[in-house]
Amino acid sequence: MGTTVDPVVDGMMRLFPAVLFPDVTDAEWDRHPELLDAGGMVELPYGAFVVRAPDHRVVLLDAGGGPGFTVPEHAGTLADGGRLLENLRRLGVRPSDVTDVVLSHLHVDHIGWAAVAGSPAFPSATYHCHAADLAHFLPAAGPPPDDRVPPLLAPVADLLRGWDGPATTVAGVRLLHTPGHTPGSSVALVGRPGNGLAVVATSCTARWSSPRTGRPAPTSTPASRAATGTGSPTGSPTTARP
Ligand SMILES: [Zn+2]
Repeated sequence: MGTTVDPVVDGMMRLFPAVLFPDVTDAEWDRHPELLDAGGMVELPYGAFVVRAPDHRVVLLDAGGGPGFTVPEHAGTLADGGRLLENLRRLGVRPSDVTDVVLSHLHVDHIGWAAVAGSPAFPSATYHCHAADLAHFLPAAGPPPDDRVPPLLAPVADLLRGWDGPATTVAGVRLLHTPGHTPGSSVALVGRPGNGLAVVATSCTARWSSPRTGRPAPTSTPASRAATGTGSPTGSPTTARP
């Protein structure tokens, strides 16, 4: 069997539309009720992707929001959070099977399962992140931009490796530095062009698009489309950063 890519949902954010799309009017939303749930909210599943390769590498792309993740009241609510390990097990993957954890960036909804109760959640894994995000979120001097991040990553400090430059390959996964959302944001390319290429930009498995343009939301990364059959376009709630 070749390399597979599977989404692993950690939970579901239900966000006020204006949080994600501040320029879209109520009248425009009224024309596209299928994009909102019954309560008028945007549903945004979040979590990770797991890549399984023939050489037995098991790579987790991002680490979800974790058991303590919340959504601020002004942004919306959280439904059924903290399910990533459970859903990983449903795919037949135990935490100790994971050989590498690739963090696309260090916002809290992407690193929540890095550790559990002060120990690495994936004890056999090497954790990877672009050095620019390590420098930004874990500054050597001065306060961090988000004080929730350092304690989430402290238990994996010895396992965390920064990579630098425009691109690298980690555990068979090609990583491209795509700064913007954060200084060290990256996208992952799994496979080869013409032979089953999946592009995973972030790990929110959103299914919506802008009601104004029909195109993916301006806050999502345009290249984020899985081409190997896993299906879900991906996006990132930039303005809803919890
Ligand atoms: Zn983010």
